[in-house]
Amino acid sequence: MLASTCSRRAALRLFSTSRGAAARTPVVGGNWKCNAGDGTTKRDVEALVAGLNACAPAAGSVEVFCAAPMLYLDQVNQTLAAPYEACAQNLWKETKGAYTGEVSAEMLTDAGITWTLVGHSERRDLFGETDELLQAKIAHAQEVGMTVVACCGEHKEDREAGTTMDVLVPQLEAIAAGTSDWSRLVIAYEPVWAIGTGLTATPQQAQDTHADIRAWLAENVSQDVADAVRIQYGGSANADNAADLGAMPDIDGFLVGGAALKADGFSTIFNAIAKK
Ligand code: PGA
Repeated sequence: MLASTCSRRAALRLFSTSRGAAARTPVVGGNWKCNAGDGTTKRDVEALVAGLNACAPAAGSVEVFCAAPMLYLDQVNQTLAAPYEACAQNLWKETKGAYTGEVSAEMLTDAGITWTLVGHSERRDLFGETDELLQAKIAHAQEVGMTVVACCGEHKEDREAGTTMDVLVPQLEAIAAGTSDWSRLVIAYEPVWAIGTGLTATPQQAQDTHADIRAWLAENVSQDVADAVRIQYGGSANADNAADLGAMPDIDGFLVGGAALKADGFSTIFNAIAKK
């Protein structure tokens, strides 16, 4: 039973990696988290945007988004040059109403912000966001026309116990249930043990999990979606490891935290995976 599951998985991997990789445009995001560039002021944001604008990627070679803190999103969106996109780090699942502290997809799109992260592990672990809530956020954001970068990942103990996919599957089920338009959905696979720790998944570890995610999509959504959907790797991605990780056939980009706060380091990362 185990052998046949494994060989089936291997066959699916082969199938999925051989068909779509060339067609998928790489996508790299900077997740600034609660940082205004590398400081805490509008001026720090201005400095990072100016640095990024000086090294903007060629349009079509790689899609690059910057997920700035909500307060600065409008400023970033107004000043960041094309083809960069401004991206929210989070949003609410309802249009408007008595939801203190929240911002809706309608408000974001009205301000010209059409990308959002959903389900980052910090939202899950620090703010108690559940798969059920994340599914509703994805569904609503897509209804309003946004592109969603949906995050998933396992903790260290899951990886050590060999239960990574057992943990990822319910997360993927929620992502799939919330998604109505797969062309506006990016998956960010971020092993939680690698986020902000300096511990990076090896290229092979990341590749294997990306291939497992793609195989799950092929089986549970469709082969076309599995071929076309972009899967980013996140977790201590940096200028030194991006080329090796990006050479893997199922890694279509990065979600970058700490290393996205300096324009030169971030541009080295997105240039490492940009289409030549
Ligand atoms: P890191 O964060 O690159 O600092 O590890 C990645 C993320 O949390 O998206």
